Amino acid sequence: MNVTHLECALCNLRHEANALHNLCRECGKPLLVRYDLEAAAKTLTPDSLKNRESNLWRYHEVLPVVNEANIVSLGEGMTPLFKTDRLAATLPIKLDLYIKDEGQNPTQSFKARGMTAAISMAKELGVTKLAVPSAGNAAGALAAYAALAGMEANIFMPADTPRANIVECQQTGANVTLINGLITDCGAIVASRKEEMGWFDVSTLKEPYRVEGKKTMGYELYEQFGGVPTLLSATSDASSFVNGREGSPVGGIDGADRSVRAPLPDVIMYPTGGGTGLIGMWKAFDEMEQMGWIDGKRPRMVSVQSETCAPIVRAFHAGERFADEFENASTVASGLRVPKCIGDFLILDAIRASGGTAVTVTDAELTAAVAEIGALTGIFTAPEGAACLPALRKLIDQNLVHEGESVVIFNTGSGIKYLEAFA
Ligand SMILES: *Cc1c(COP(=O)(O)O)cnc(C)c1O
Ligand SMILES: [Zn+2]
Repeated sequence: MNVTHLECALCNLRHEANALHNLCRECGKPLLVRYDLEAAAKTLTPDSLKNRESNLWRYHEVLPVVNEANIVSLGEGMTPLFKTDRLAATLPIKLDLYIKDEGQNPTQSFKARGMTAAISMAKELGVTKLAVPSAGNAAGALAAYAALAGMEANIFMPADTPRANIVECQQTGANVTLINGLITDCGAIVASRKEEMGWFDVSTLKEPYRVEGKKTMGYELYEQFGGVPTLLSATSDASSFVNGREGSPVGGIDGADRSVRAPLPDVIMYPTGGGTGLIGMWKAFDEMEQMGWIDGKRPRMVSVQSETCAPIVRAFHAGERFADEFENASTVASGLRVPKCIGDFLILDAIRASGGTAVTVTDAELTAAVAEIGALTGIFTAPEGAACLPALRKLIDQNLVHEGESVVIFNTGSGIKYLEAFA
């Protein structure tokens, strides 16, 4: 609702809303959805959220679907935010450490958030055949939402994709092709065949709506950190929900006084592949600021990558705005195996504007972290999500995260999809 137009993220060229688009027709960069936020803010108030459905479509005023009948949903979003004191106690400084458990989404990863938005819009715009290159969880999510919508899903995956991802696609009716190569090679195949086959390419950031689904993680953090008055008053011990530090004063548009605590964490640790979720959350914070929900203070965004596939980390420390392709990329964290991503400048701009940073961990570190987090929290994390723990330790060592801060680790998927990694 409330979509005014799409806008190129690089050259700002305007594209009309009610038509199928992939990339900017001038410069070939991603398109972002723009809303009439003044109109949205009239009904989407923090207070209005308290009685809404428990999935990400609760934010429908700032999501693209016009006709509710086109929403294709498996109940994604509103994942729990766990405070993890036993895990936090293993760190050298005292932090409020949280895990946002995206492994509880349909198809066991946060790719479900992007796909519910992309497939719903595909339905609204009359698409019947979809295609995607995927190194893992995007494929499973596409297959599931396409099945629910009655659409054809054509999926191209590297042959060494975790077996669970291949099987789930086959069992939910997709056409699966395995390729001896990387996700970039799969992407090239989709690009070369899509015209002739009549496929709509739902590659991440090559269509405008997956980022809209994923941005809802930013809205949820706001709610879960006490931005919604009822959440606070309904909790006897509100400190178990939020940052114990004095937050910066935040005036809600409804005039409620939420000055006691900041409705967002100090630091967000994000395992980055294509960067859709990081870009999406940063966009959500923009929208929330324009709607008067938050002031200018935002979380520091930290991009976490594997040492053996780290294009964003390399570009960040080299001071570049665009990231070169990372040669010979490999990592067991298949969601991080993205050697070249089209949203590189959006990730890097957001990290820098937030005062955040970018950091690598080794595959040995991130794999070991799965068992460590599991034993201390009960959450069987995806290796991508687990990577945030050794990354956080490095930031603490470098004095980039400080005593008393609140830190959210994004566990972006479930470890159950990666059994080979623990063989
Ligand atoms: C896709 C994926 C990522 C990377 O997500 P982006 O938003 O594209 O950077 C991280 N973790 C898991 C489990 C994934 O499936
Ligand atoms: Zn452009």
